[in-house]
Order: sequence, then C-alpha cells, then structure tokens
Amino acid sequence: MSVTVECPHCGAQVSWTEEATWRPFCSERCKMVDLGAWFSEERAIPGKNDPTSEQWDDDDALASFSPGDPSTHQ
Ligand SMILES: [Zn+2]
Repeated sequence: MSVTVECPHCGAQVSWTEEATWRPFCSERCKMVDLGAWFSEERAIPGKNDPTSEQWDDDDALASFSPGDPSTHQ
C-alpha cells in the first residue's frame, strides 16, 4: 500500500515513503521555496513592527487620545 500526496508548492505527486526525504514536498528546493515564501509573508504583515503605532498601545496615550481633536489624531 502506498500513499501519494501532492507537493504543496508545485503540485507534483510525491510518494509518502521513508525515501521521500522532503515529503510532503517533492524536493528540497520546493520545501525551501515554500517555507521562504511563508516567512516572507509573516514579516510583511503591516503595522506589527511599525514604531509609529506603538504609542496607541500605551494606556496613557489611549487615555489622552481624543478622536475629535485633529492635533492629537495624526
Ligand atoms: Zn514540488
């Protein structure tokens, strides 16, 4: 009995065996490319590391924040 999966990156048929070192990927290249793309997307999430947004995470800043005042809403 053999199990075959599709490579998540290129869709190639991969036999799920001990010999399939890179399963579920068909090759090391596909695994690295796919993981690389995943990590790139993680880093690309906007606002996560944006220093200009940190002030609103502070309780004092939130307490003094006035939505109707243009001088504090930039
Ligand atoms: Zn592949």
